[in-house]
Amino acid sequence: MQKKEWAEQIKQFQNGPSQELKKKALQTRLLSYGRGVFLRGLIEFSNYCKNNCYYCGIRAGNHHVCRYRLTQQDILNTCKKGHALGFRTFVLQSGEDPWFDDQKICSIISQIKEMYPDCAITLSIGEKSKETYRAFFAAGADRFLLRHETADATHYRKLHPDVMSLENRKKCLYDLREIGFQVGAGFMVGSPFQTIETLAADMKFLEELQPHMVGLGPFLPHKETPFKDFPPGSLNLTLTMLCLVRIALPNVLLPATTALATLSEQGRALGLACGANVIMPNLSPPEVRGSYSLYDNKKCTGNEAAEEIALLQKEVENDGFFLDFSRGDSRVH
Ligand code: SAM
Repeated sequence: MQKKEWAEQIKQFQNGPSQELKKKALQTRLLSYGRGVFLRGLIEFSNYCKNNCYYCGIRAGNHHVCRYRLTQQDILNTCKKGHALGFRTFVLQSGEDPWFDDQKICSIISQIKEMYPDCAITLSIGEKSKETYRAFFAAGADRFLLRHETADATHYRKLHPDVMSLENRKKCLYDLREIGFQVGAGFMVGSPFQTIETLAADMKFLEELQPHMVGLGPFLPHKETPFKDFPPGSLNLTLTMLCLVRIALPNVLLPATTALATLSEQGRALGLACGANVIMPNLSPPEVRGSYSLYDNKKCTGNEAAEEIALLQKEVENDGFFLDFSRGDSRVH
């Protein structure tokens, strides 16, 4: 679809998806993935970051964060706990922390794979060279999440300092794809200076990239960032974008994000009703969860906590779905 047509669609549903749009998104998801909801255990292993993204609570310039790094042993113990709870995908996420060099990351990947060959490993650790991505893939990593954040270069520059560029972000995504990773792009809904046109550019870019996963949740302000006074993204527009992504990319893996569950009590259920088919409960050691604060009041207890899987299972079943404990690979080729 042309960018102009995307803008028209987004405009039409900017106050929320119609019943018809929701129905179409749900039917699309039922055809590609049925009623299963894939689980990923999220391990936030370092909140050190060299970057200074204006929206993010763990940006280098925030000196109020209590910084932490999990040891390799902590990470392996966390996987052990997750495996016992039934998780078969681990998402290793961190700020861009140079202390975890290629050798350390490769060693963590190969150890997890050795202990749990039945599990998939997803990395979410930012921009690297193609050579480094190759090394991660060779060590056994399966998937990589790298939200493009916005596909409009001018907007990108308003969200990030000049040392970061949309061009490099996109290059990383194409490199990852070429190497053989299942790749996840994505963006925040309601990030400062976002417009219907920039959202249309996001949809166009997703169509071009054909990612295996799309991470899409509302922007939520963090009190120690330059964007502290901007309003949170809209629940209704986030739901519209979920519907549009599901319909445009029928086989994509689409999480109902923690940010969506933080924005609204019903966020998760509404996300599932609009085509989302993945949930990423927090598996990080409970004592560090509060320090991985990307935005204010981030949910990490109750149904967002990996230990409360039974609670989550009940909720998801009430919503008409079931938890699928398999690896949950993407059907995008
Ligand atoms: N450093 C890695 C990277 O850049 O991809 C992974 C960690 S980064 C914190 C993960 C994602 O958190 C970002 O891609 C961004 O979209 C999201 N995020 C950061 N700050 C946010 C905020 N204030 N509201 C909502 N999402 C936010």
